[in-house]
Amino acid sequence: MNLKKKKKQNKFFNIAIDGPAGAGKSSISFLVSKRLKILHLDTGALYRALAYHLTSCPNFYEVNFNLEEKLKGCNVEVEFCEGVQKIFVNEIRVDEFIRTEKIANAASLISKNICVRKFLLNLQRDFAANNNLIMDGRDIGTVVLPNADLKIFLTASLKVRALRRFKELKLKGVSVSFSDVLKDVKERDLNDVERKISPLKAAKDAVVLNTTNLTVEESVSSIIKLAEKFVLGEHV
Ligand code: C5P
Repeated sequence: MNLKKKKKQNKFFNIAIDGPAGAGKSSISFLVSKRLKILHLDTGALYRALAYHLTSCPNFYEVNFNLEEKLKGCNVEVEFCEGVQKIFVNEIRVDEFIRTEKIANAASLISKNICVRKFLLNLQRDFAANNNLIMDGRDIGTVVLPNADLKIFLTASLKVRALRRFKELKLKGVSVSFSDVLKDVKERDLNDVERKISPLKAAKDAVVLNTTNLTVEESVSSIIKLAEKFVLGEHV
């Protein structure tokens, strides 16, 4: 696919992928990015990185925790090394610490705050303004990149999403029950959908892709076909 076509028009090419936890956004977006040779920014990892940093503060779970003040002393940077995203908080690489259920839940908690969302907004938009990229999250098509060339809302049934997360955790050797994972995914969905600021929802112009009965490869192919159709005007 000739992505340089967009660049010639002095515009980079952006694909926005949103959807609930466990829909496969990050792994599918990563594979799409490899095939299209574009960047993949996993914004959930940014919220997790901040959550990891903040949960290390002694009074994080207390009501008087001053989130806004803490963010002032916080610097988040993203680097890409052969297409792999690396996140640094105050110059410390955090990627290997952010894939736990504890951090996922803390990310869900802090992401309700306007100061957190504002804190990460420019970083996300700067990447999109300067790169051909696929960005996945919860509010990419609705808030972060409302003018994205292609918006996809990736979803799957709750049971299938929880099962995927459960298998992922098992593979990592994490001892967890399916019912706990199901409960966590359900709770996070509810938090993300019901929050007042940037709630999880499909953008009006998003294509909804239900992956309940699709393999990863089928989902990747569907997105590539959509990219060919919507971004390059090649009707396939
Ligand atoms: O995608 P992932 O599960 O890693 O995201 C962790 C949490 O970060 C989500 O449950 C959500 O609350 C928050 N998030 C968000 N907006 C994004 C990406 C993630 O609020 N764009």
